[in-house]
Amino acid sequence: DYPVYGRIDGPIVMIGFGSIGKGTWPLIERHFDYDASKLTVIEPDHAQANFLRQHGLKHLQVAITKDNYREVLGDLFSEGKGFCVNLSVDTSSLDLMKYCRELGVLYIDTVVEPWAGFYFDTQNNAERTNYALRQKVRDEKAANPGGPTAVSCCGANPGMVSWFVKEALLTLAKDTGHDTTTPTDRDGWAKLMQSLGVKGVHIAERDTQARRVPRPRGVFVNTWSVEGFISEGFQPAELGWGTHEKWFPENGHSYDTGCQAGIWLERPGAITRVHTWCPTPGPQFGYLVTHNEAISISDYYTVGDAAKPEFRPTCHYAYHPSDDAVLSLHEMFGSGRQQTKHHILTEDEIVEGIDELGVLLFGHKKNALWYGSRLSTEETRDLAPYQNATGLQVSSAVLAGMVWALENPMAGIVETDEMDHARCLEVQRPYLGPVEAHYTDWTPLQDRWEHFPEDIDDSDPWQFRNVLAS
Ligand code: NAD
Repeated sequence: DYPVYGRIDGPIVMIGFGSIGKGTWPLIERHFDYDASKLTVIEPDHAQANFLRQHGLKHLQVAITKDNYREVLGDLFSEGKGFCVNLSVDTSSLDLMKYCRELGVLYIDTVVEPWAGFYFDTQNNAERTNYALRQKVRDEKAANPGGPTAVSCCGANPGMVSWFVKEALLTLAKDTGHDTTTPTDRDGWAKLMQSLGVKGVHIAERDTQARRVPRPRGVFVNTWSVEGFISEGFQPAELGWGTHEKWFPENGHSYDTGCQAGIWLERPGAITRVHTWCPTPGPQFGYLVTHNEAISISDYYTVGDAAKPEFRPTCHYAYHPSDDAVLSLHEMFGSGRQQTKHHILTEDEIVEGIDELGVLLFGHKKNALWYGSRLSTEETRDLAPYQNATGLQVSSAVLAGMVWALENPMAGIVETDEMDHARCLEVQRPYLGPVEAHYTDWTPLQDRWEHFPEDIDDSDPWQFRNVLAS
């Protein structure tokens, strides 16, 4: 008895049927009323054709490109209504969302994706940042406010973690005797974070999913898109830059245009390590892989002027991927070439482990609070088909974003920070396994290798200078 959240009138077009698309489809089928004959999957990879045929899904085996997207989507959405669910790599989120809005079609994606080639062919590192990609979407929102809803970056992270930040703030308010009234606008949320004394947020993730057989050499193994992870891993490390920071990295660059909430480092994110904390391992290394939410959260919680803010939190991803993915990165960066064989671990071959994905709010009265989902693949198998724990954290966020878009069809371009987090989590929560709050007294000054002197700041544990591993 699954709740049906509403009716989608007109066609549903899913672009991309990889690990996330395949996991999202059964949730769409379960939770929406729609005309099944009007659902089309656009997927260039022939490997998915058999599955799609067996499940009676219309398959358009074509790659969406800059040259054909207007024609292909224009034909499919000729009724001028419906829902476009973009879960592919190599398609421009900005172009697709603009066109869907022009057509009067609802739109959702999980990342600001550029057209094929962008990640590796762009010479200028500043242009390869998520700051640059995101700012273009924000500029489009500012130039064309309102209109048909297009939800930008609504996966697990970016996506769900923005809703977790709000839940964590309310939890911290309650536990410290602060006023617990839920803020009603951006300004209110930013001031709540400021008044709670939060200095920053790690998107702190530990993926322990593993299979029985060891990773074969020469194969990049991951629990979600290998292509997506390699692309973002090669982008410069990036983070939202907080007002409490007293030091600036030598290889860092800031901005004097746009929201000015972020900085980027002259170094790929997937070999830049940070000290962080998750409930299962305790202290651990994570990778400072660039993500949209690092910028969007720092931007959203800014108090005062963008150029000279009164308050802004530091925010970044601190990702410990599955052990096989760590080895894959090590091999790839060490050899200077990408593995040609890619593999995404399926729910059938994973024998143990969880994806522990949450937000670590630090620097406040109670030091640090981790709030997040600790979903196992074992539990995932009982909850929904065709995906592992990582996939379900993403696909259930897509479901929640689609429900919100149907309920708010003329909200314009939005990020997950700007959506009703309580409603979205209400829809998503049944799919997240244990969602827990954990306080810790750990700081980045603890558990270091004391025999070697480091360039750190003992006066304030939560300086980024201490978080960044030497
Ligand atoms: P995947 O690599 O498993 O699948 C991507 C699919 O897109 C593939 O089946 C591929 O054939 C298809 N594709 C490639 N080029 C295409 C084109 N031009 N037109 C149409 N389809 C095309 O990836 P995934 O794990 O399913 O991830 C999908 C997207 O979601 C990626 O952009 C990824 O970065 C993003 N993602 C976001 C989150 C999040 O939490 N926000 C998490 C995981 C993945």
